Amino acid sequence: MLRELQQLSRSHGPLRAGTGLVGGIIALVLSTAASLAALVLRFPGALSTPELRQSVEPSTLQALLMACSVLGGALALANALRGRLLWLSGLSFLLMALAALLGGYRPPAEGWQLSAAHTPYVGLDWFVLDLLASTLIFVFIEKQFPLRPEQPVFRAEWQTDLQHFFVNHLLVGFVLLATNLMVHRLFSWAISDALQAWVQALPFALELLLLMLVADLIQYAVHRALHEWPPLWRFHAVHHSIKTLDWLAGSRLHVGEVLLMRTLVLAPIYVLGFSRGVIDAYIVIIGFQAVLNHCNVNLRLGWLEYVLVTPNFHHWHHSQQHEALDRNYAGQFAFIDHLFGSAVRAPDRWPSRYGVIDDAVPPGFWRQLIYPFSRRT
Ligand SMILES: [Zn+2]
Ligand SMILES: [Zn+2]
Repeated sequence: MLRELQQLSRSHGPLRAGTGLVGGIIALVLSTAASLAALVLRFPGALSTPELRQSVEPSTLQALLMACSVLGGALALANALRGRLLWLSGLSFLLMALAALLGGYRPPAEGWQLSAAHTPYVGLDWFVLDLLASTLIFVFIEKQFPLRPEQPVFRAEWQTDLQHFFVNHLLVGFVLLATNLMVHRLFSWAISDALQAWVQALPFALELLLLMLVADLIQYAVHRALHEWPPLWRFHAVHHSIKTLDWLAGSRLHVGEVLLMRTLVLAPIYVLGFSRGVIDAYIVIIGFQAVLNHCNVNLRLGWLEYVLVTPNFHHWHHSQQHEALDRNYAGQFAFIDHLFGSAVRAPDRWPSRYGVIDDAVPPGFWRQLIYPFSRRT
């Protein structure tokens, strides 16, 4: 079983229909999610995100665990009854047994909301919830409107990007803590009560638009610095080393870049004192747009592409073609690049090759993590 799992996890390419592999892998993902959810319910203080705990009830997480088990169990059973990939079904059932052993199917223990908010934790709940939601939404969008229909879900280097996705989600607590600390230390001198009162008195839509505009201007400047200042490029090159763009590709981000970008984008949000509801709406929009912009999706918006960042706009940012190098920095508003003269003019085409010109960044999560500090740079 372990050898087969190792073989599967090292391979990539399209899944052949009629072999039971599609159902088997979905069952494996669902049963893994179920066992991880059970682990979170068992140790909420250490494995769940306090911010998420405030809005997600343990009963919701448990309902999700149940749904994953029922659906995953049905798929694994269907394969088993047909005698297909028994080892994969066996593995799914083992993971569900683990969820049961951890007490995932019993009523959740008390103390979910009360678990200490200031102990170190890893965001395992955030990983499970985002993985399920992202695969459901974005794989569906990619299959409905594919840019490259021949590109499989399990394309080359999916393992590396899933590792980036996993670690960046687990580190959410560390990133929140570190960026909050830095923002408060570095920028509290700039706070003005009068300015904050003015911002908070704006209508919701206007306040949200102002936040997005300010955040994207900062994002533009930091992103440009990441490209143009060599010590920073070493970190950002990791993101650009991706050669296949899809919903998972955007997760390839060095934690150093995440810390720098988040701190500097959070600074004006903190200084201007935007309302909680506006910040929450912004987080949802930016989270969706950041993933969508990397998707293997043929989405075109006509003249609106001069206003908003779309997949086509950001795909060009990842292109290896000369006309596109160090172009299209904006994350939300394309007009910022048009305004500063840094936009690629290729509205009818899509790039043919992605990646870093000299392919200097090594493959693999750990090697990419140490790449900015290595002599090879
Ligand atoms: Zn870039
Ligand atoms: Zn990108």
